[in-house]
Amino acid sequence: MLLRARIVLPVSRPPLEDGAVLIRGNRVAAVGPWRKLAALEGGPAVDMGAAVLLPGLVNAHCHLDYTDMAGLPPQREFPDWIKGLLALKAAASYSDYALAWLRGAKMLERTGTTTVADIEAVPELLPDVWSATPLRVASFLEMTCVKIVRKPQEILQEAAAKAGSLSPRRGYVGLSPHAPYSTTPALLRQTAALARRRRWRLTMHVAESIEEFDMFLHRRGPMFDWLRKQREMSDCGLGTPLAQIARCGLLGPNFLAVHANYLDGHDVAALAKARASVVHCPRSHAYFGHQPFPYRKLAAARVNVCLGTDSMASVRGTGRGKVELNMFAEMRAFAMTQPDLAPAEVLRMATQAGARALGWERRVGGLFRNALADMIAVPFSGKTGEAHEAVLHHTGDVDAAMIDGQWVAPPR
Ligand SMILES: [Zn+2]
Repeated sequence: MLLRARIVLPVSRPPLEDGAVLIRGNRVAAVGPWRKLAALEGGPAVDMGAAVLLPGLVNAHCHLDYTDMAGLPPQREFPDWIKGLLALKAAASYSDYALAWLRGAKMLERTGTTTVADIEAVPELLPDVWSATPLRVASFLEMTCVKIVRKPQEILQEAAAKAGSLSPRRGYVGLSPHAPYSTTPALLRQTAALARRRRWRLTMHVAESIEEFDMFLHRRGPMFDWLRKQREMSDCGLGTPLAQIARCGLLGPNFLAVHANYLDGHDVAALAKARASVVHCPRSHAYFGHQPFPYRKLAAARVNVCLGTDSMASVRGTGRGKVELNMFAEMRAFAMTQPDLAPAEVLRMATQAGARALGWERRVGGLFRNALADMIAVPFSGKTGEAHEAVLHHTGDVDAAMIDGQWVAPPR
């Protein structure tokens, strides 16, 4: 199949005017000027017309099964928001979670995401929901260990057995210890060791709130006071939340640190040295009103920073259109906080950087030879130099989407 578009934006290289992408099976066979590829190929082509054709977006952090938990009000203190979420979770049934997962997957599919890293609170539903979505999904099974009713090795063994028994259609399974405050050092150390042996990827919420930072660094604040009644707190007072997970051996190239809003200089250096990735969720960050995300410090240390939507439970409407899981909205929200950052760099974070974080840099996040044929198109009739900016400002559904060489939304 040969696709032609006014602009082909491969991300991995500069945009091409009147470009084309040749697809063989589920792979990209060539990317180049339309004239050249048409002369080589000769067969029928699909002309996308006045559009930018670009790789599908990579959403590096999501909770699809919380899609119906929208509308939770932000709280002055982070633990109060968690309590609200826990109450909603306790009231949800298996089918509530499964339907929410699929509704969330549909939102992502319509709005240009083709790959998602998802935290799975209910892994039992995975075989059913995977088979009902075309998305490429890296599913991370969530583990918590607050109330010490069960031993860490039991929790880990159960998650590992589940992970080993599941085989997603287009993705893989990894593990997600929930956060430093909702786990124990023993669970974290054992998870790190097992992931190294099995070559699994890990993701975890880290240093999301000031309350978490104060709990670990200073043994004080509302989170410390809340959890001291139910959690062994001898790991607090030793350093920052990021230092806690570094001590437990979790940091490495297979690790995605989600949020990382509250870091000291040592934390940034440790992330860089370990070649770990950081996932920033711009709208979730704004919802909670955190301190500014330390993007400049991370970028200066060459930490791989990518973008994610987080869940519908931490996104607030802007009054413009309905609120959805939408990576274009995340790119725009991030760009607003970084007015000096080139739109091309923001798009790179939502594609190539996310792919690298997931260990898929040779498969997705760019249009290059042998990449999986995951791509999207958005309308555009301006100048080539304005294509990145136009992509960032795209609202609504995409014009067309392809995953694994198959149209999931054919060109309109
Ligand atoms: Zn999250």
